[in-house]
Amino acid sequence: MPDQRPMPSPDHAVIPSAERGGVRNTRTAEGRATTAVASDGRWHCVCIVEIVNFLAMRRLLGRVRADRLRDDVRTRLAQHCADLETTVAGREALEFWLDRESYADVLRTIAELDAMFVAPFDLDNESHRLEIVIGAATAPLHTTEDVRLVEEAEFALDEARREQHSVLRDLSAGTAAFDRLTLTRELPSAIAKGEMFLQYQPKVHVRKMAINSAEALVRWQHPERGLILPGDFITVAEEANQIAPLTLWTLDRVISDQKILVADGRDLTLFINISGKLLGDAAFVAEACAKIQGSGAKIGFEITETAVIRDPECAIANLQTLAGVGISIAIDDYGAGLSSLAYLKQLPARELKIDKLFVSQLTSSNRDPLIVRSTIDLAHALDMEVTAEGVETRAAMALLTVMGCDMIQGYLISRPISIDALRVFLQDEVGSPGDQVREAMFSRPASLWKSA
Ligand code: C2E
Ligand code: MG
Ligand code: MG
Repeated sequence: MPDQRPMPSPDHAVIPSAERGGVRNTRTAEGRATTAVASDGRWHCVCIVEIVNFLAMRRLLGRVRADRLRDDVRTRLAQHCADLETTVAGREALEFWLDRESYADVLRTIAELDAMFVAPFDLDNESHRLEIVIGAATAPLHTTEDVRLVEEAEFALDEARREQHSVLRDLSAGTAAFDRLTLTRELPSAIAKGEMFLQYQPKVHVRKMAINSAEALVRWQHPERGLILPGDFITVAEEANQIAPLTLWTLDRVISDQKILVADGRDLTLFINISGKLLGDAAFVAEACAKIQGSGAKIGFEITETAVIRDPECAIANLQTLAGVGISIAIDDYGAGLSSLAYLKQLPARELKIDKLFVSQLTSSNRDPLIVRSTIDLAHALDMEVTAEGVETRAAMALLTVMGCDMIQGYLISRPISIDALRVFLQDEVGSPGDQVREAMFSRPASLWKSA
C-alpha cells in the first residue's frame, strides 16, 4: 500500500437540464489542478442513468411494458451518443463509459443527455414521462482507477436523487497530498463525525442460487479528499490505535443493519473484516462477544491466516471464544499471504475465501486453475465451504462452479453497495430468489470492471 500518494478530491457539477434547470457546476473556485499523469488529453467518464420512477412505472404498466420503456431509454441514449455502449447495471439504471476531448465536452454531453429525457416516451400510443437523474464521475484518462470513478459516480447519483438534478464529479480537482500523518490525526474525529460508512458485497451460493451472506466493507467519505477506501486507512487506524474503536463501530452498524434485513424477512449472515491486531486483543474479543450475544445478530468475522501466524496460540484461543458464541469465522485472502496447513486445520473456520489474485487469472493462466482446484478440494476435506472473491467474468464463474466452488463474490454479482441498495438487490420482485440471483449475475456489466 502506498504511503504517500496524491488523493484526488472529487469536485462535482450538479447538472440541471434545460427545462429542469440547467447544469449546476460545483467545481471548486480555484479550478482544476493539472494532472501529472499522461492522459492523452482525453477525459474518461462513467455515467449512471437512473429512472427514478421505474418501480412506480413497473407497478402501473407491468414488468414487460416497463422493461420496454427502459429499452427505449437505452435506445434514446445510444442514438444521441454514437460511441455510447450502454450496459444494464441493475433494474433501474444504465451505466456506460464516455471518452471526451476535454472536461467541457464531458459536461456538455451530460447536459445533452439530461435534456433529452425531458420529452415524454411513447408506449403503445400512451405518453409517459420518466424521471431520470444522472450521476457521473470524470477524470483525465488513465489518472484514476475505473473502480474509483464508479464509486464516485454512485455518490454523484445519491446526490442527484436528493437534489433532483444530475451531478457530475470531477476527480481531477484539488489534488491535496494524501499524507498518513493528517489521516492519523483526523481518523478519531472522523468516526465521531459520522464520516465512516459501510457498503455490503453479497456472496452468492452457486448451487442454492441464494444469497446467504454479505461482507461489510468500511469507507471514509472525507469532507475534502472525497472517498477514501480501506486500503488507504486501515493500517493508519492500526498504527493510531483506532482499529478497535473502528471495528466496534462497524460491528454496531452491522448489527443495526441486520435488524433492517430481518425486518425485511432476510436471513443473512453479515461478515466484517477483522484486523490481525485484534485477534490478540482480549478486551476487543470480550466486547465484540458481548455486543453480538446481546443482539442475537448473525455475524461472521473474516480473518487472514497471516494474522493467526503472528501469535497462533493466542489467536486460535480467541477465535475459539468467538466461534463459541456463534460467530462464523471465514479465512480471507487465502493464498495471498503466509499459509500454513498446520494452523489451517486448527482454526474454527467454516469458510475459506480464495484470494482474488488467483480468481482474476483463472481463465488466462495455466497454474491458477490448478491452485484453485486443489484449494477447493483441501477446504472441502477440512469441512469448509469455499468462496471465490473478485469474480468479474462469467467465464470465471462457470469454471469455479465446475470446480465445486460453493460461493461467488465479486463485481459480476454486485460491487459493494449501501444497505438500501442491498435491500433492493435482495428484493424478490421478479420471481424466485434463484431467478433474481441469475438475473443479477447475468446482467452485471462484466466488461466494465475488467480494468478496475
Ligand atoms: P477484502 O476483505 O479481501 O475485500 C475485498 C476487496 O476486494 C474489497 O476492496 C472489494 O471492494 C474488492 N472487490 C470485491 N469484488 C471485486 C472484484 O470483482 N474485483 C476486484 N478487483 N476487486 C473486488 P476494499 O473495499 O477496498 O477493501 C480492501 C480491504 O480492506 C479488504 O479486503 C479488507 O481486508 C480491508 N477492509 C475493508 N473493510 C474493513 C474493516 O472494516 N476492517 C478491517 N480491519 N479491514 C477492512
Ligand atoms: Mg474480506
Ligand atoms: Mg479478501
